[in-house]
Amino acid sequence: MTNIPRTHPRYESLKIREKLSKGFREGLVHETGLIAHGRGEAFDYLIGEQTIPIADIAAKTAAALLLKSQHPIISVNGNVVALTVDECIDLANSIPAEIEVNLFHRDIKRVRKLVDTLIEHGAEKVYGLNADMRIPGLEHDRGWCEKEGIYSADTVLVPLEDGDRCEALKAMNKKVITIDLNPLSRTAQMADITIVDNVTRAIKNIEKWIYRLRDEDSAALDEIVGSWDNKNMLGEVIDFISNRLEGMYYGST
Ligand code: ATP
Ligand code: MG
Repeated sequence: MTNIPRTHPRYESLKIREKLSKGFREGLVHETGLIAHGRGEAFDYLIGEQTIPIADIAAKTAAALLLKSQHPIISVNGNVVALTVDECIDLANSIPAEIEVNLFHRDIKRVRKLVDTLIEHGAEKVYGLNADMRIPGLEHDRGWCEKEGIYSADTVLVPLEDGDRCEALKAMNKKVITIDLNPLSRTAQMADITIVDNVTRAIKNIEKWIYRLRDEDSAALDEIVGSWDNKNMLGEVIDFISNRLEGMYYGST
């Protein structure tokens, strides 16, 4: 990594860019993943590069749903592995859940590299290499998934997902949790629970909630999940951004 001084005002953001470009050089990240990151970064700037209160409640709700699920899967792509490999493994162990590598631009060499990276970092079971089923309604290679993995999951946590695939997973009657910095994306609108936060903060935050909620009874978890209104929450994110920008320009009242 190049030497970014800790005192640099964009230290965290620059460190994340370095991780992604390293992931790209190592063949983990697709070139379009770098562009997708730019879109996310712009929204992170707008929310102040912090976990906003409603995103923390979203992470809590996601943890409750994951604890309630029979067969939860964490679906990861190149960006997610490059940025949060250890965090994803820790989260999977805490629930417990399994991990599947699932790529928009499916390429078996890159899938193998991502699976190997996850295993090297300590993941016990990683799906993705033996994709044998298709997600109905999705043309092209991005529709492939594993029968024992995403195909039979009841809940899928898909950070940085594409809108189409999110919709197709929902059509299979799965619960979809996503992490997406863009509250306007189709994925953010389609998911059951959208955590509008950077994946680098959100995965750790869900894990924090898993530990806090793990001794709650089933009714208490149902109550948390049942009171969640994703559309309303997205409105709150837009309000947060508007108020923050207004405060920056006109001073807070
Ligand atoms: P959609 O198809 O859902 O409308 P999109 O086409 O804008 O979305 P994609 O390019 O398919 O999105 O996926 C990238 C999404 O991931 C973007 O919405 C972007 O905001 C988000 N994103 C990128 N990097 C991060 C990150 N580090 N943390 C969280 N979200 C991110
Ligand atoms: Mg898209």
